[in-house]
Amino acid sequence: MMGATSLKNENVVRVRVPAPASAGVILSYKCSAACRHCMYACSPAWKADWITESDLYQLLSSLTGHIVPSPWGRERVSLSHGLHFTGGEPFLNFKLLVLAVQMAAELDIPSTFVETNCSWCVSDAVTRERLEHLRRAGLKGIMISVNPFYVEYIPFERTERCIRISQEVFGPNVMIYQIEFYRQFKRLGLQGKVSFERYLTLAATLGGTIAVEMFLMGRAARALKPYYRSYPASVFFGEPCQPPFLRDWHNHFDNYGNFMPGFCGGISLGSWRELDRLIRDGIDLREHPVLRHLIAEDIRALLDFARGYGYQESPQGYVSKCDLCLDIRLHLVKHGNFPELSPLAFYEQLALDEGSPSEGQRAREEAV
Ligand code: SF4
Ligand code: SF4
Repeated sequence: MMGATSLKNENVVRVRVPAPASAGVILSYKCSAACRHCMYACSPAWKADWITESDLYQLLSSLTGHIVPSPWGRERVSLSHGLHFTGGEPFLNFKLLVLAVQMAAELDIPSTFVETNCSWCVSDAVTRERLEHLRRAGLKGIMISVNPFYVEYIPFERTERCIRISQEVFGPNVMIYQIEFYRQFKRLGLQGKVSFERYLTLAATLGGTIAVEMFLMGRAARALKPYYRSYPASVFFGEPCQPPFLRDWHNHFDNYGNFMPGFCGGISLGSWRELDRLIRDGIDLREHPVLRHLIAEDIRALLDFARGYGYQESPQGYVSKCDLCLDIRLHLVKHGNFPELSPLAFYEQLALDEGSPSEGQRAREEAV
């Protein structure tokens, strides 16, 4: 495998894509929420372009030989092993989710789980019925999302209900991401939906801070800017992508055919319809100039490249390397044709967010 540094050499024309040892399958980007931190800029505004049954089968079939089970075994789950179904909110199309679980079980894919924001957990009966249905179909576990951005949309009682009943249905195969926020919300006695601004006020009453993983990428890089310090682009020139851009774990495969590196919304390594070829022959960097710089993790070279398309550094600065990367890509999609910047709807959604700042507020108020 070629290192990021060696890719700065322009004579390198091809780079291999690691075979995916774990994977997230995005059934669609449509969501019941529009969280400020969402890496994929999901929201209720996305078209309901659910992955088709034939695409789902083709994707799962091509992944099946590669997926590595959890270190605790095929029947157990862990965040960066096995295969998970995600979105958007996968429970918005429960029929498709059940079908996906059945297909994965028939293909003997290990350590499968679903990721959810719990918006659908409106009663104990509905929650239990759906979770048991999925377990019977072959699902091994669940990952339940908890942080201050979800609770703006999802009443905390639904999250608590989902955790309680999931633990009865899936036993130890329940992951709460992030448990630190769950414990903090319990200490605060949160109820209903809580705005981020109110959460900050409440959290301050507890004193101290909690250390949690936070990626300032996707919508987070734009919507959370007021809460972070900004820096000039040059501050990020030597910084590697974290986690590494090309890796074999926790990559995502979407309903539009994109094989997406890690958590990098709007970037495609190619079509998962050609997964075997991508793994065997790699990516032709001459045809994908943006990917060349991204794979080299060389943000300075990407900035220079984008200047050729009229990009100008933001005088306001950037909160993270991913913020700079995204700002450049938002410019490039408007001024060139780069198939590696996909899906285009990701960039359109971000532009929509910014075109109507009241949109997020309205969605929070209307959220189930
Ligand atoms: S619930 Fe998940 S997918 Fe939906 S907007 Fe929030 S972070 Fe994104
Ligand atoms: S800088 Fe760009 S390529 Fe690297 S992790 Fe961030 S979004 Fe992905």
